[in-house]
Amino acid sequence: MRSTVVETVTSVHHWNETLFSFKTTRKPSFTFENGQFVMIGLEVDGKPLLRAYSIASANYEDELEFFSIKVPNGALTSKLQHLTLGDSVMISTRPTGTLVAGHLTPGRNLYLLATGTGLAPFMGIIKDPDIYEQYEKIILVHGVRYASELAYQQAICEALPNNEYFGDLVRDKLIYYPSVTRESFRSPAHQQRITHLLADEVLSTELGLPPLCPSRDRFMLCGSQAMISDTMDILNSKGFAKATSRRQGDYVIEQAFLEK
Ligand SMILES: Cc1cc2nc3c(=O)[nH]c(=O)nc-3n(C[C@H](O)[C@H](O)[C@H](O)COP(=O)(O)OP(=O)(O)OC[C@H]3O[C@@H](n4cnc5c(N)ncnc54)[C@H](O)[C@@H]3O)c2cc1C
Repeated sequence: MRSTVVETVTSVHHWNETLFSFKTTRKPSFTFENGQFVMIGLEVDGKPLLRAYSIASANYEDELEFFSIKVPNGALTSKLQHLTLGDSVMISTRPTGTLVAGHLTPGRNLYLLATGTGLAPFMGIIKDPDIYEQYEKIILVHGVRYASELAYQQAICEALPNNEYFGDLVRDKLIYYPSVTRESFRSPAHQQRITHLLADEVLSTELGLPPLCPSRDRFMLCGSQAMISDTMDILNSKGFAKATSRRQGDYVIEQAFLEK
């Protein structure tokens, strides 16, 4: 039986009709690496109903944060989306996952590629001051279908660059690249799938960075099965090596949800 603790909901934010996030209390004994996930859930009919969730807060923050989809008729999320202040949430005590900086070989540019709620682990990673010491540029690409799904823009574009401790590093190094595929948004280059952004070097060209190269660039991928497998094909064809549980690599993946 998985060991869980009960935490209390301290805030809830609904981004739109399909996405929400919430924060909970955090026991001081609960430690994790930025980018990891835990099992979270509710007691339903006297039994725990748990699902994997990336931790969207950084490991030095007092509270835990989660960014969630609302799946129509989803076993957990049809209930979880009704959370309110003071409600209880079960959280497993053993965070795990591959999206951690230590699984990558050293590089100069770190690309964080997310679709949908795959953004969650990267919200913890971009709040990690160490990542700005390790890389010259951190490029956060968030691919969504509709602009209303571009959650956390205020945190990424305003709060973090103004962080009193490492805001100057963020301003210098963090590049946020949102992309919306199903409606008009900014420019044609911001309406492409992540795979097109990479395969055709649209992203590097847009950002004024050199073409992707295994000697320089590192990747973390989180999101849909389709994005991950197509992006892996592109990275493999360009000579990037996937990290394994035994060996550091040029890229790491976490498949956060299966395509319907
Ligand atoms: C390692 C890992 C990390 C995850 N992190 C997150 C996270 O941070 N936030 C989050 O919302 N979900 C995350 N998930 C998915 C999560 O575990 C659940 O699937 C999700 O909460 C829906 O639960 P459910 O019981 O309502 O529906 P389920 O029965 O679990 O899912 C029903 C269907 O909904 C679709 N679906 C599920 N989750 C998503 C999603 N996130 N985005 C788009 N479609 C989805 C899939 O087609 C799935 O088959 C993660 C999954 C894994 C494996």
